[in-house]
Amino acid sequence: MIKGLRSLSTLLTPKVNSKEWIHGSVRDLRGLLPSGGGQCVACLSPDAHFGLCAPCRQDLPANRWHCRCCALPLAFAGDQTLCGQCLQDLPPFSRVIAPWRYRFPVDSMIQRYKYNGQRVFARPLIHDFTDHLVSILDASPEHRPDLLVASPMHPARRRKRGFNQAADIAEQISKRSGIPWTTDLVTRNRRTRPQRGLNREERQANLRGIYRVASTPPSSIAIVDDVVTTGATARSLTEALLAAGAADVQVWALARTPG
Ligand SMILES: [Zn+2]
Ligand SMILES: [Zn+2]
Repeated sequence: MIKGLRSLSTLLTPKVNSKEWIHGSVRDLRGLLPSGGGQCVACLSPDAHFGLCAPCRQDLPANRWHCRCCALPLAFAGDQTLCGQCLQDLPPFSRVIAPWRYRFPVDSMIQRYKYNGQRVFARPLIHDFTDHLVSILDASPEHRPDLLVASPMHPARRRKRGFNQAADIAEQISKRSGIPWTTDLVTRNRRTRPQRGLNREERQANLRGIYRVASTPPSSIAIVDDVVTTGATARSLTEALLAAGAADVQVWALARTPG
């Protein structure tokens, strides 16, 4: 069992602060970590595959049982189960694919990636996520989207953080799947209060009208994000895309929070 993420002083963990840096770092990482090997980001074992050793990969909290629409983790099995919230108010998106639960160590890995720019922590998650998506698309090609839309970040926030993690993830999925991706179709036109601490109605009100769709979208879209928290962001973005002419919107994220 993974007890804690080790200090990564021996790993390449510089701050991501520009898109150019990301491209440079990918080159550096390729050089340092040949053929997907290298050190495990969780236990520092030298025998890792795309940044995680086999036991640590085994310990990742799989989102095995979940709502078939919003991927909310459930305590019991049932492929066709809808959670209470979706039963009450069915979301506008057709499904959420989120292979992990947002708890340790996935939460820490995503936070280090997102807030500290330590891309090595996301590398195993993004790699395994794209594998997972490619096998889902192979099994049901009729659900293959025409376009990946990276969940938009307000430009001021993007400048502060140095990169948009959703765009980073969308780009990696696009490389593996061949589905085009964009950050230009939808813009976020104002900042919002943090969603934490708001109830459901307040969250939806907070997000109303924040997205502007620049042109007519293709019929089938997958929104790409790092985490689906309440689903309020995904709902609001989906509504904007459907109103602009999309026929089907799904959501792809690394992880789903418990509620
Ligand atoms: Zn390990
Ligand atoms: Zn649900």
